[in-house]
Amino acid sequence: MGGRKRDTILVMPFPVHRLRRLRGSEILRNLVRETRLHPGQFILPLFVCPGEGVRREIGAMPGNYQLSVDELVKECAEVKSLGIGGVILFGLPESKDEMASGAYDDNGIVQRAIRALRKETPGLLIATDVCNCEYTSHGHCGFVKDGDVDNDTTLQWLARTAVSHARAGADIVAPSDMMDGRVWAIRKELDASGYEKTPILAYSAKFASVFYGPFREAAESAPQFGDRRSYQMDPANGREAMREIELDLQEGADMIMVKPAMPYLDLIRQARDRFDVPIAAYQVSGEYSMIVAAARNGWIDQERAMMESLTSIVRAGAAIVLTYFAKPAARLLG
Ligand SMILES: [Zn+2]
Repeated sequence: MGGRKRDTILVMPFPVHRLRRLRGSEILRNLVRETRLHPGQFILPLFVCPGEGVRREIGAMPGNYQLSVDELVKECAEVKSLGIGGVILFGLPESKDEMASGAYDDNGIVQRAIRALRKETPGLLIATDVCNCEYTSHGHCGFVKDGDVDNDTTLQWLARTAVSHARAGADIVAPSDMMDGRVWAIRKELDASGYEKTPILAYSAKFASVFYGPFREAAESAPQFGDRRSYQMDPANGREAMREIELDLQEGADMIMVKPAMPYLDLIRQARDRFDVPIAAYQVSGEYSMIVAAARNGWIDQERAMMESLTSIVRAGAAIVLTYFAKPAARLLG
């Protein structure tokens, strides 16, 4: 039935059809716009650190800060007032060790931050990053055995961390480690601990990307030896990304994520077409910092680059965008 319409279009080309007609004015462009952004679809990543009154700007990510809990509370009050969908917390612990014990400590930095936010900014959605790299002395995402991250030991740490975040009051836990079986391990432990209602947002297709560079300064989580290629994905592999997503969904993920976002728009689109779950995409630190750096050099218009990049990510199929631009974008959207 679509065929007849298509034929009509084919036999009556220009001058009948002029696509510029609908581009002639902002009111027309606004009327036919296919992709619209809303602050409610953004999640702002935040870095919480020990101390009081700490608001330390991250050199490679201008406009982003390491925040002590009291400053985080102020930041989140603003985030909430802008109608932003939520925040995702990353922690910088007082000390690091080989066992990542700061990650699953009920009095750890993220757990304290969650409790403070629950009290001071009720109604703000709090997601937490569940991983070990900010908490291990070597900066890898799990227990290191014979020079490599041991998958199954790491699962126990992740499950404990997720439960401790849920206990502190997290709305969503988001494992980012790329161990096999982590969603299953976390789901099992959450359910056994009475948190069967806590959803899991899985960083399912997380690539070993150079675009994470600035984040490692922010979270002080650069690996001290080697790299993360034995657990994060090879940027060349799109089919494998679909397999990762499928397995995470089978293990019980409620939502999945593609990370980074702009270099992987094809995979966001493929995931959207294949899986009927909310898809998140993480516009990572390098994507943010490239735009800000180019703008500071006068080479690009920051506001327009920000909105175009976010629009492209949503157009590709993301329902949720984790972005360091959440605040300025929300302000612009009014
Ligand atoms: Zn990690």
